[in-house]
Amino acid sequence: MRAAVLEGFNQPLIVKEVDDPTLTPDGVIIKLEATGLCRSDWHGWAGHMSAIQSFPRILGHEMSGIVEEVGKNIRNFKKGDRVLVPFNHSDGICPHCVAGHHNICDNLSLVGFHFNGGFASHIHIPEADRNLVRLPDNIDFLDASAMGCRFMTAYHGIITQGNVRPGEWVAVYGTGGVGLSAIQIAAAAGANVIAVDIADEKLEFAKEVGAVAVINSKKEKAPQIVREVTKGGANLSIDALGIQETCLNSVLSLKKRGRHVQIGLSSTPNGGLLQLPINFILATEVQIIGSVGMPLPEYPAMLQMVENGRLSPGKLVTKKISLDEINIALEDMNNYAGVGVTVINQF
Ligand SMILES: [Zn+2]
Ligand SMILES: [Zn+2]
Repeated sequence: MRAAVLEGFNQPLIVKEVDDPTLTPDGVIIKLEATGLCRSDWHGWAGHMSAIQSFPRILGHEMSGIVEEVGKNIRNFKKGDRVLVPFNHSDGICPHCVAGHHNICDNLSLVGFHFNGGFASHIHIPEADRNLVRLPDNIDFLDASAMGCRFMTAYHGIITQGNVRPGEWVAVYGTGGVGLSAIQIAAAAGANVIAVDIADEKLEFAKEVGAVAVINSKKEKAPQIVREVTKGGANLSIDALGIQETCLNSVLSLKKRGRHVQIGLSSTPNGGLLQLPINFILATEVQIIGSVGMPLPEYPAMLQMVENGRLSPGKLVTKKISLDEINIALEDMNNYAGVGVTVINQF
């Protein structure tokens, strides 16, 4: 099969023919139709993800496609099924999985990091009966590609962890893929969304996706403007980026007893250590909430909202590329260039 292979951090991926994946009794092989390019792929490529322990590795974790082969123990899927692949691969038996929180499984493994992912024409998914999601017929592969990571991460962050309510004010810091997804989902849930970024063209796109107000934090003090627009502060604020400035500003945008949800993964140079205003948090009783991926039981509700048109993940896709163009797209992410989401749909 053709694949884009990571052979060393910060080096161009090598697009070449590699061995086809081997089918295991509990696995399936999927012919991929679309794979999104996510900020986490960039983190993996740049060496920020401890999950990558060896080379060569095939990155890519936002896949959708058609089941081509099933292992002899597979009961829930058959050849020809349309599927999407959640990136957080769980064991199904630890206490968190049993409680329905597969996204924080004790034996979590990440597709495209711990094992080979979707920057390839085909992928093998082990333990597939419980780690694949069937795609309804009227959701196309482009819509589905974002639902393995960015879109589902934003859904869990806004709906479950953020517990958004109609009429609430929601600030979203960062309008990359996960930020745009959060804006669309919060708006669909009836919230008023304020998008914050440093690029005007990204903020324009955020308005198209559902933001009622935008702030360019290069030109204005974002927390102050959020407080003015909302007359006192946001009920819910999202850091979709994971850097010191956006995390701090997100917390400072909240009204008393507001909720900050951390969705953006922190990377070097801070290595995951960010400073927070502890006395403000104490005095206002704001909550700091983590959010990672999405557990499997939340998929049906999200898919239903996509099926009935209330959510349109495909609307965030601004660029469709071939596997051969992947290095250009990765380099664009070095400087946070480009608006919207890039998806590979030619392998
Ligand atoms: Zn588990
Ligand atoms: Zn991702």
